[in-house]
Amino acid sequence: MSIISYANQNVYELVAYQPGKPIEETARELGLRPEDIVKLASNENSMGPSPMAVQAMQQAAAGVHIYPDGASFSLRSRVAAEHGVGFENTVVANGSSELIELLGHAFLRPGTEVIAADYAFTLYPIVAKLLGADYISIPNRDKWTHNLEAMLAAITPRTRLVFITNPTNPVGTMVTQAELESFIERVPEHVVVAIDEAYIEFAGEPTDSVKFVKAGKQVAVLRTFSKAYGLAGARCGYAITSPEIADLLNKARSPFNVNSLAQVGALAALDDKKHIARSVNMVNQGRQAYVQFFEEKGLEYVPSHTNFILVNVGNGVEVFRKALSRGVIMRPMAAYGLTEYIRITIGNAQENARCIEVLSELL
Ligand SMILES: *Cc1c(COP(=O)(O)O)cnc(C)c1O
Repeated sequence: MSIISYANQNVYELVAYQPGKPIEETARELGLRPEDIVKLASNENSMGPSPMAVQAMQQAAAGVHIYPDGASFSLRSRVAAEHGVGFENTVVANGSSELIELLGHAFLRPGTEVIAADYAFTLYPIVAKLLGADYISIPNRDKWTHNLEAMLAAITPRTRLVFITNPTNPVGTMVTQAELESFIERVPEHVVVAIDEAYIEFAGEPTDSVKFVKAGKQVAVLRTFSKAYGLAGARCGYAITSPEIADLLNKARSPFNVNSLAQVGALAALDDKKHIARSVNMVNQGRQAYVQFFEEKGLEYVPSHTNFILVNVGNGVEVFRKALSRGVIMRPMAAYGLTEYIRITIGNAQENARCIEVLSELL
């Protein structure tokens, strides 16, 4: 008998998460130099991390023979102060991906349900499936925006988790503060609402969901250092949530889940607000360039509140492949059933110009 027949079938049947194509791999396959490749596939910050974060991590590198602080005391305290909540309201993790997994460990098992919107972050269904829970995907209103009323109506006694991604990936739309408030008000007490705010720094008018935690709601606000903060490779994210949920997640995580470099890098990054402002500014300008190009070409796109933009190019996989062969990595959307679309991360001015040049050749 194959060892697979003894494996957890939930795991065996999973389709692994497909990340954006790495630069090194693309360079190898195309026989190009890594410097000649533009990666606009994973919503990273083309400006890089804050120099303050880099310096803090360089200094900490000599101390990596010592285990990190398993409680991430300094970072959790800093995050709590940043949001005006208590230390007991915080969890830090190896990226917000780990927080999504920890929410699964804490609340999901066979017979439970997870609700999310259509075209949601692919990690949500992976975690649901891993833990044997049913994943319910709710059609958006006007195709692209979360339909919170329909998501609320889909809640059953078996529902344990609802994911609201705000702004949402891979689409880039947002729900409003009023919609959120009306939703949270009516959510039954057996349901945890995870509000994934991976892109909130790019939202012109950010919503305030930490207020729900302050009001005692069973909400987990998820934040990451991977996008605007430019620390995707360091792996760090955090949750602001109720003390009860924070306690569950802290029990479920591995003892040293956030490495010492990530802890000091994230701490320093939180202090460098100017770097965030510059990054957001870069993205706002880049977004304008893409929008102008799409308008000129008559391409359908989704107005974005994030550092990426979803655009209809006719045949997403083909355009992805052809651009790849010219050294520009974007993200095809076929995995979401959006076969006509690609998602482009908004990079720096040179990267955007290169991407637009390649797209005008192809379209
Ligand atoms: C990128 C992203 C995350 C976070 O990723 P980490 O690098 O694990 O922090 C979480 N949610 C969404 C919707 C994302 O796009």
